[in-house]
Amino acid sequence: MMAHALSTEQQEVMGLLLGSWFYDELGVAKRADIAEVVTLQRSDRRPDRVEVSGAQLAQASDVAEAKGHKVIGWYHSHPHITVAPSHVDARTQGQYQTLDDGFVGLICAVFQEGDSAMGSVRVVAFQSEDVANEPGGFADGSPPAYDDVVSKKPLWRPREIPVDVTRQGSSVPHLRALANLQDALFEEERAARRKHADAFFADAVFRKGVALLATDSLHPLIHVVASKLAAQHARCAAAKAKLALLRPPNYDDL
Ligand SMILES: [Zn+2]
Repeated sequence: MMAHALSTEQQEVMGLLLGSWFYDELGVAKRADIAEVVTLQRSDRRPDRVEVSGAQLAQASDVAEAKGHKVIGWYHSHPHITVAPSHVDARTQGQYQTLDDGFVGLICAVFQEGDSAMGSVRVVAFQSEDVANEPGGFADGSPPAYDDVVSKKPLWRPREIPVDVTRQGSSVPHLRALANLQDALFEEERAARRKHADAFFADAVFRKGVALLATDSLHPLIHVVASKLAAQHARCAAAKAKLALLRPPNYDDL
């Protein structure tokens, strides 16, 4: 998810969270354990358009079920803007919660101005509370007037949820997710090119997109994998040296 969020500075990226819910004795979802993420291709690349299509949701559900997980939430990135959920985010989240009230939203704020470390990432988890019936809310004073429908009266208010990050044993699934991400980003570029096939600059834009993908995303990943491999070789050599010390002496030599 972090790698996905950091893969582009210009646009928001999004995906779904797979894992499981833990319930209390009343059957209320108390905790959501995120096991992995599915990166999604955005059909609309304009800012703040991060809707998930029904087909994408169904496909992700199949992937989740095959691994014994469920789709338990969604994430998207906020490049260059605050980590706080927008009104649109609160509404989107509220709509998801009508499907399952344990559904959770994650936002990754990346490329923050003024951050001491450019690579730092802020993450917030949130759910939305229905405030339509509260004083000043959308449905306060029924029936709602037409003006209320088009006005800015809030329907949903975001509420922050504590996040706990734990380290998982193997990094292989993460590397696989990073590799899949390359495919998803490449497919986005191809889809954008197909969509604008008759524009005379479509080829140039596509080539620029693919070149940026290679320099900003693929090459750093190759470096990460190469350094991991070197570290594994070093650990392997150290383990072999230890093993040689632990071997019983060869008594034939005595
Ligand atoms: Zn947002």
